[in-house]
Amino acid sequence: MRYEGRLYRPPSEAYSLIVQATIGCSHNKCTFCSMYKEDKFRIRPTEEIIEDLLLGRKHYKKIKRVFLADGDALIIKTEELVKILQAIKNIFPECERVGIYGSPKSILLKTKEELDELRDLGLGIIYLGLESGSDKILKDIKKGVNSKEMIEAGKKIKDSNIKSSVTLISGIGGKENSIEHALESARVLNAMEPDYIGLLTLLLEEGTELYEDVKNGKFQILNPKEVLIETKNLVENLEIDNCIFRSNHASNYLSLRGTLMEDKELILKQIEEGLKYDGYDDKELYRRL
Ligand code: SF4
Repeated sequence: MRYEGRLYRPPSEAYSLIVQATIGCSHNKCTFCSMYKEDKFRIRPTEEIIEDLLLGRKHYKKIKRVFLADGDALIIKTEELVKILQAIKNIFPECERVGIYGSPKSILLKTKEELDELRDLGLGIIYLGLESGSDKILKDIKKGVNSKEMIEAGKKIKDSNIKSSVTLISGIGGKENSIEHALESARVLNAMEPDYIGLLTLLLEEGTELYEDVKNGKFQILNPKEVLIETKNLVENLEIDNCIFRSNHASNYLSLRGTLMEDKELILKQIEEGLKYDGYDDKELYRRL
């Protein structure tokens, strides 16, 4: 397969055929993110994307899922996405689901009819980075949208019957905004009603604005125990039915997984157990990085 730059995909797309429909991220301004800093954003020509799909067919006998990378491939014009999805249907008739990263802005730019058309052609899941539900934090991290727009984007995906997977970052508000982060994120997630919530924990990356803020003392990173307290505050306030909650990324200190609401008490119990453990204090040892 042909890939350019560093390639990222959601953990649940580990066994998918990954095809870069865009290079880099259309936003590329978040203060904590170094993922696509070196890439100038561009949309690849549809013919090139279809060539990659054909290359995939040569290599793999059975493809159950296709993931369209990089950041925000949903920004591609609907008429081109239609061609790409039709090609996936023709080349991989066995494919059960196509996934894509979608920024709130690109979701809001699509009409319901456009999203419905993409769903009918196989688009099964959109991955959306909420990061935080707090307007203050969203502004601080330069996410480019507010919580109202996040909620609108989430509801739009739901209205079109496309699955949504929303990621949130523990510790993204620092010590100062930890409670606000937990409570506001729960409020926004409850309104969005995603099918999946993926909780990551902030990883400080050299070369980012946030890294400089930490160095200059403007931002205080949460220690592992504070991250667990924040997670407890978040989970306590989540009220979403049939939502798979995962906090099992390598960046997390404690691995959690369950289906809301039925497993909410169990998840909270696991967090309580984690909080009793002394070894967490200020150690990175418990991340599986
Ligand atoms: S967090 Fe997502 S939207 Fe923000 S710069 Fe990174 S890839 Fe782009």
